[in-house]
Amino acid sequence: MNSEELRAEELINRDFLDNIKEVLQFYRVLGFESLPIKLAESGKRLAAGKKMKGQITPDKEILLKRLREEIGDCGKCKLSGKRTNVVFGEGNPDARLMFVGEAPGREEDRQARPFVGDAGQLLTRLIERMGFKREDVYIANIVKCRPPMNRDPENDEIEECRGFLESQIEIINPDVIISLGRISALTLIGNDKLKISAIRGKFFDYHGIPLMPTFHPAYLMRNPKDKWLTWNDAQKVLERLGNG
Ligand code: URA
Repeated sequence: MNSEELRAEELINRDFLDNIKEVLQFYRVLGFESLPIKLAESGKRLAAGKKMKGQITPDKEILLKRLREEIGDCGKCKLSGKRTNVVFGEGNPDARLMFVGEAPGREEDRQARPFVGDAGQLLTRLIERMGFKREDVYIANIVKCRPPMNRDPENDEIEECRGFLESQIEIINPDVIISLGRISALTLIGNDKLKISAIRGKFFDYHGIPLMPTFHPAYLMRNPKDKWLTWNDAQKVLERLGNG
C-alpha cells in the first residue's frame, strides 16, 4: 500500500470509529448504559449456563436488574395486596434452559425465590438429573405474586403479569423453555383449550424458542407414576440442547 492509500484507509477507519461513537452517544442519551445486543446469539454455547470461553454477557444481568426495578412494588393486580414478596425469578441470565412454573407458593412468597418448597425440591432433582446445577438454568413463573390459598392465577392476573415474563424470556433468550404444568403451557402457547396430558412431550414454538410442556412437579408429587413421562420430556430437551 502506498502512502496515499494508507492515508485513505486511515480516514475510512476514523470515519468508521466516529460513526460508532455517534451511535453509542445516541444510546447513552436514550438512557442505555450498555447495548442490548444478544451477545450469546450464536446459540452454540457448550452446556446449559456455560458461556463460550471469554464471553461476557453483562447486558443480560443489567437488563434483568432493570426489569426487576421496573416491577418494583408492583400493584397492577389484586395479588399484590396479599403477597409478602414479588418472586421475580432466579438463575443464570445466560441460561440455555429456562423453566417456567405457574405462581409462587407459600415458601416462595416468604423467601422471594421460585420453586423453593416441596415442588421446588423435586424440580431441583430433575434439573440435577438432567446434568445441570440449579444455578446453570433460569427459573421463573407466569405470575410473580402468590395467589391466596395457592389457587390458580386468574386470567386478569396472568394478563397483567405476562409482559414481565415475556421481557425476561426475551432478555435470557434461552435455547429451550420447559413449561411446568397446564397454566404455564397454555399461557405460553396462547391456547386455553389444550390438555396438558395431550400436549406434554411435544415441542411448541414460543417466538422462535422451542417450548416443551411437561407436568408440574406438584402434580408429579401427587402422581409419582407419571414421573417417567416428565423424564422422557426432559430427555427430548437434552437432545435438542445437544446434551443428550
Ligand atoms: N409452583 C410454581 O408453579 N412455582 C413456584 O415457584 C413454586 C411452586
